Amino acid sequence: MRKPIIAGNWKMYKTATEANEFVEKAKGLVPNTDNVDAVICAPALFLNQLVTSAQSSPLQIGAQTMHEENEGAFTGEISPVQLADLGVKYVIIGHSERRQYFNETDASVNKKVHAAFANGLTPIMCVGETLEERESGSTGQIVETQVEQGLSGLSDQQVADLVIAYEPIWAIGTGKTATAEDANEVCGTIRKKVAALYSQETADKVRIQYGGSVKPANIEELLGMEHIDGALVGGASLEVESFVKLLEAG
Ligand code: PGA
Repeated sequence: MRKPIIAGNWKMYKTATEANEFVEKAKGLVPNTDNVDAVICAPALFLNQLVTSAQSSPLQIGAQTMHEENEGAFTGEISPVQLADLGVKYVIIGHSERRQYFNETDASVNKKVHAAFANGLTPIMCVGETLEERESGSTGQIVETQVEQGLSGLSDQQVADLVIAYEPIWAIGTGKTATAEDANEVCGTIRKKVAALYSQETADKVRIQYGGSVKPANIEELLGMEHIDGALVGGASLEVESFVKLLEAG
């Protein structure tokens, strides 16, 4: 009953020219979206042109981060109002690279998630543990705390509309994927936490992606798991062919 969502996270890759070429090529190849939501989260610089070129195609465009204020003296930042005005639909919030290099915390993630909803954007809220945390057996507790703090103050409806991306940090860009069973277990923990904080009905609606070295070779197994409703994909979203293969598995 939950529609899978495959989102590419381009990070700081591609020029405007390359981004345009990708979307022009991908447009005709993206499969029927009754079965899967297809999203590309591109650098902010290209969002305007990509929203325009993806119009009338099933491909949807997302941002990779944003500021939590609607406007203000925040040199270099981009606001949710600005994203919504362009026709952007999704925004990644609290990616581990943002948490690690740009001081984002569960508290700022929570503010941004609220700001996204206030402006009609769907947040893809990222959570996940480090290798040390996994090895010390604290994955469940870490992820539950991130979920609880990230979702604080949201309504049932907002949580049902949200996308949560479970991304173990040690699996991002390393070629090491969590086993489908391990990924499913943590996604199940997240769903249980949402049920405890909200209701089982809401928990049954929220879509939970796995992210971390997802590629055409492992997507089917991951999507076959009970609690995994899609993927947030870095490296394998950069080439049209592999991105389309991921969508076809959805
Ligand atoms: P990866 O990145 O697929 O290259 O591991 C995932 C992510 O950072 O969202």
